[in-house]
Amino acid sequence: MQSKFIIFLGLPGSGKGTQSKILTDNFKNFYSLSTGDAIRKILKEENSELSKKLHDVVSAGLLVDDDLICEITQKEILFWKDNLVNSDECLNQNFILDGFPRTIKQSENLEEFLNKTKIGDVALLILFDLKKRIAIKRLLDRVICKDCGNIQSVFGLKKNDVNHLVCNRCGGQMIKRKDDQIKTIRTRIKNDKKIIDFLLKFYQNRGIKCLKLNAALKINVLHKKIKNIIDLL
Ligand code: AMP
Repeated sequence: MQSKFIIFLGLPGSGKGTQSKILTDNFKNFYSLSTGDAIRKILKEENSELSKKLHDVVSAGLLVDDDLICEITQKEILFWKDNLVNSDECLNQNFILDGFPRTIKQSENLEEFLNKTKIGDVALLILFDLKKRIAIKRLLDRVICKDCGNIQSVFGLKKNDVNHLVCNRCGGQMIKRKDDQIKTIRTRIKNDKKIIDFLLKFYQNRGIKCLKLNAALKINVLHKKIKNIIDLL
């Protein structure tokens, strides 16, 4: 059976990461790549030139270089194909792209790569639709696990609260993301808002199924909707 690529598109804080983690934690036929997680992994590398170069870009809420992001994505897709997709448990795999593509160049690069390698096709785009105001509130209240990237929300989070928080998925230490500060959040949201309409049109013009879901729904309600939609692909 052909592999399916599913694009999760939406503002930061719209729940793309949370939903993709639920799917990959609970179902063997889901795999995901969060390009944001991949970038944060590079940022943790000490004494790395690349990490130093990326630090200022990410802290300012700007997008990192297209070539680097495309290279990370292609490598991960090839790793998945070579190591996981043909194992017995993983037939009919769904590959979720969380936070990619985010520019015109990235969407074209993905298209070319999938055409060339014939690994699979983009079968679905889900737009996590959320008001800017709610996204900002969620990002200010959000903490992330240093070890597994799990996301939790603490209503009215204060700076000092963070040190005491433990991950409910792996027991790791929760931290505040450096780019979840109000000034950076505004830049990230502004940039992502600009590209969302373009990407939606790009995939609609190619006849790919594009669905807009209300990202303000409760996590488990939204999960059920997403799972049902993907099961019917
Ligand atoms: P995210 O976790 O998706 O909010 O991403 C965190 C940061 O990583 C972004 O603000 C960018 O600096 C960088 N990043 C993640 N995905 C991409 C992408 N597709 N293109 C460019 N930069 C990205």
